[in-house]
Amino acid sequence: MTSIKIIAYLGSAILIFFGILFIWGAFSPQGSGGWILIGVLTIGIGFGIIWLVSRSKAGQVSNAENITLKIDLPANVNLDSLKCKSCGGSLTMDNIQMVSGAPVVNCPYCHTTYQLTEDPKW
Ligand SMILES: [Zn+2]
Repeated sequence: MTSIKIIAYLGSAILIFFGILFIWGAFSPQGSGGWILIGVLTIGIGFGIIWLVSRSKAGQVSNAENITLKIDLPANVNLDSLKCKSCGGSLTMDNIQMVSGAPVVNCPYCHTTYQLTEDPKW
């Protein structure tokens, strides 16, 4: 569980909380029927975030999970010959991010994002 995930869970909990308040408020004398829709939408977004966070695993790149950590690449990855899988552009350490403990390449040329494998062929 990363801190980003905890923040996402907290954020969605707050969204669900306010969504319930909106639905509740809709039944109060000052409330209107439109609040139910806002409440349902807010709760939906909250559960959507939980669903997205819980289904994202290492290897799946999610923007919410992108954390830049100290990069610890496998020794057999030669950065001199590191090239983008899709466009062949040369990559530097700045183009690699640690996501869920796995190195992920963000190509600056074609904007492809993929997990860096330990395959020594490239
Ligand atoms: Zn590329």
